[in-house]
Amino acid sequence: MKEVILCKYGEVILKGANRSDFEVKMLKQLRQRARRIGNYKVYYSQSTVYIEPLDEEAIENIDEMTYQAKHVFGFVGVSRAFACEKNMETILQVVKTELAPTLKGYKTFKAEAKRSDKKFPMKSPDISAEVGGAVLSSVPGIKVDVRSPDVVVRVEIRENEAFIHAGQEKGAGGIPYGSSGRGLLLLSGGIDSPVAGFMMAKRGVQLEAIHFESYPYTSERAKEKVLDLAKILTNYTMRLRVHIVSLTKIQELLRDNCEEEYFTLMLRRYMMAISLKLAHDYDCEAIITGESLGQVASQTMKAINVTNSMTDIPIFRPLIGMDKEEIIKISRSIGTFDTSTLPFEDCCTVFTPRHPRTRPELDKVIEQQNRLPFDELVEEAYKTKEIIVVKQFGENKFE
Ligand code: ATP
Ligand code: MG
Repeated sequence: MKEVILCKYGEVILKGANRSDFEVKMLKQLRQRARRIGNYKVYYSQSTVYIEPLDEEAIENIDEMTYQAKHVFGFVGVSRAFACEKNMETILQVVKTELAPTLKGYKTFKAEAKRSDKKFPMKSPDISAEVGGAVLSSVPGIKVDVRSPDVVVRVEIRENEAFIHAGQEKGAGGIPYGSSGRGLLLLSGGIDSPVAGFMMAKRGVQLEAIHFESYPYTSERAKEKVLDLAKILTNYTMRLRVHIVSLTKIQELLRDNCEEEYFTLMLRRYMMAISLKLAHDYDCEAIITGESLGQVASQTMKAINVTNSMTDIPIFRPLIGMDKEEIIKISRSIGTFDTSTLPFEDCCTVFTPRHPRTRPELDKVIEQQNRLPFDELVEEAYKTKEIIVVKQFGENKFE
């Protein structure tokens, strides 16, 4: 049985003059993915994008294509429709044998027909009535409710074929990837930062990522873990450039020259300075972190101020008001949780102070900072940068 995929627009519908820019991006992203899976026609009609398989292989790979469609931001719902010949007999047959089994568990429904082919011999209300009858006779216990049905059975009579579908799965939501400019994600191996990246990507921010390592205090495997997390994010972004910067020298100098209780804060100031430099070099208009207020000592309001005060671009912290439980829920739903919880060290856990400052004063922090040639060390660390392009389809590429 041939099936097509229908993708429903979300808030893009509400966009005024810019709407077509958004639509172009969403179609392009679907087409880029479709090309990787097989021969599909992707087109727009009446607030829905249709993905139609054009050969046997594409029909076979429809599950994979549906998975892809569910990861494109801007669509709120994705459903599958059976495509069949345009005559009432065939349509009713498909409703009874193909659609009916998918309706088990629903208590109420209504049938809705739409004719874009006005030459079709029956009018929409008559088609709806017949389709409704077929559903009633083939789904035990289901009842009609035209006002608030659990599911709507839809039949569309189109130019070449009829499409029959019911219900929909959740799409990725949000607005099209890349429609809000670029942002630099500080990506650690933890639970929070991949979620933060996902959330901003969902709001249209094209991601660039930076990861700080501290080899040999952190292992090669810890770095691979971060690249694995980046790979999972490419389900949504298709590709993600990860910049890896070594903090080893800075951490050793901090250990030897700074008061222990300021250690983490100083490290975060270095991270921020290096990130800012990278953001400027790669046209990122914002920095994104996975910080959540009060989660750890370096995420109190005062501590956040110590890093915040350094930047001239906004820092987006989409998790700031969320509980760990809420963050974990998203982490599971995007598939990063199991990788995030693998036990590898992060540079933040190297030389961790026993009693970190939770209410640091900025002048004290500056005094600590002046013990070392801050700008020079930032420049030097920046030079250690290696770039790995992580792709959804295919191998990672070293640049
Ligand atoms: P996560 O689960 O993201 O690791 P966390 O609770 O461990 O978060 P911290 O270690 O305090 O929090 O880090 C706060 C934020 O700083 C992270 O969410 C991330 O955005 C950034 N960050 C921390 N460590 C690194 C790192 N090694 N490389 C890049 N960014 C980092
Ligand atoms: Mg961390």
